Amino acid sequence: MKYISTRGSAPALDFEQVTLAGLAGDGGLYLPESWPTFSADDIRALAGLSYVDTAVRVMAPFVAGSLSEAELRVLCEAAYGRFSHKAVTPLVQLDHRQWLLELFHGPTLAFKDVALQLLGLLFEKFLARREDRITIVGATSGDTGSAAIDAVAGRDKIDIFMLHPYGRVSDVQRRQMTTVLAPNVHNIAIDGSFDDAQALVKAMFNDADFRARHNLSAVNSINWARLMAQVVYYFYAAVRLGAPEREVAFSVPTGNFGDVFAGYVASKMGLPVARLIVATNVNDILHRALADGDYSQGTVIPTATPSMDIQVSSNFERLLFDVGGRDGLALAEQMRGFEASKAMRLTNAQQEGASRLFTSHRVDADGMNLALRWAYEAAGQVIDPHSAVGLAAALAADDLPADVPVVTLATAHGAKFRDAVERATGVRPSMPARVGSLFDREEAYTRLPATYEAITAHIAGLATARQ
Ligand SMILES: *Cc1c(COP(=O)(O)O)cnc(C)c1O
Repeated sequence: MKYISTRGSAPALDFEQVTLAGLAGDGGLYLPESWPTFSADDIRALAGLSYVDTAVRVMAPFVAGSLSEAELRVLCEAAYGRFSHKAVTPLVQLDHRQWLLELFHGPTLAFKDVALQLLGLLFEKFLARREDRITIVGATSGDTGSAAIDAVAGRDKIDIFMLHPYGRVSDVQRRQMTTVLAPNVHNIAIDGSFDDAQALVKAMFNDADFRARHNLSAVNSINWARLMAQVVYYFYAAVRLGAPEREVAFSVPTGNFGDVFAGYVASKMGLPVARLIVATNVNDILHRALADGDYSQGTVIPTATPSMDIQVSSNFERLLFDVGGRDGLALAEQMRGFEASKAMRLTNAQQEGASRLFTSHRVDADGMNLALRWAYEAAGQVIDPHSAVGLAAALAADDLPADVPVVTLATAHGAKFRDAVERATGVRPSMPARVGSLFDREEAYTRLPATYEAITAHIAGLATARQ
């Protein structure tokens, strides 16, 4: 399988190369040259398979040429063996049509473990083959950071520098990052927002010298391998609810458009997805883009769902590329315009292409709290605020055929955001034992101003430069 850039001028790469590179050299994001497809019989054959067996079937076409099926299986068994639920991503029924897909049974209690546990192992495998090392730089609104750090802590061919916005992640999220004291783990708290952190990371990738000297690599959802790993659970859930005979809709609490883009990929591969509901909080750039074609950056408003407090949605570029006719040079031009003016209009083709599968819903604090309470009172489920944003959008989708089940992706465990959960429901979720004694451990991080010079000087001082 070959991968091409959304901006049309970076070389096509194989799976191993895109995994290590993250962002394309022309500033674009990598996508498969064409979508592999599963026939109805291929999908039927997934019935009853374990999560690992499903993962191997679904991901095999994407890694072809870089990993054998046997190698892929070994990595999946190691990655998903660390999950605390035998089904890895179990489905829970809420009422006659609403379902939750629980994605938070990994080591750091958010769905990002599903992709990052695998990505850490992919990095290790490919670096051992090449006798090379990498420096991971990432920006996190909370959950990516802890999941990435857990996945690579202590691996000697990898340094990881994780930027988080100072004071804007929850205590649990911060401690899950800063209490990992492995020598290759470096936490940086910046005086700025998540978007500032993400812009700094992008600037490092666009700095060819810095990027080459430290062999930079990405763990944000701009990394294709992450999205690929997330495609699996759409298949796993839909097959359990009757695919390919029956269509299924998904409601996805969204920030960077990564998780929901994986649903789009599943649909492109032939999974009968009736609808993808993009659920945003009041930071609603994606809702405005999908509803009106207005992709313009607002200022970030902090909410009880910090992992979605985002006003630039990196992976949206992948959708615009695919539904807009895959014209990389035209998209590069459009994105340059957006980067200069912080606003753009979707083309008609992009808007029509997106509206075939996507709808969107903006959920404010009241809507989120109502959904938290509904889950608890009507179905006995204590969910997290991000999942509640997804559920609020799922409950509001009243124009779907009655026989289509609606699956909300439950992206975090309630214990990760227990203050907000307790305020809405009166129940304080307890911390699962696998997290250990977070609040007794020592923390380590460096606080820095959100300037390119400060961050790169810090990284250059600690990372191992290549010869
Ligand atoms: C990251 C995250 C999201 C948003 O996922 P995207 O892939 O950025 O759209 C939603 N909920 C939780 C709990 C998250 O950690």
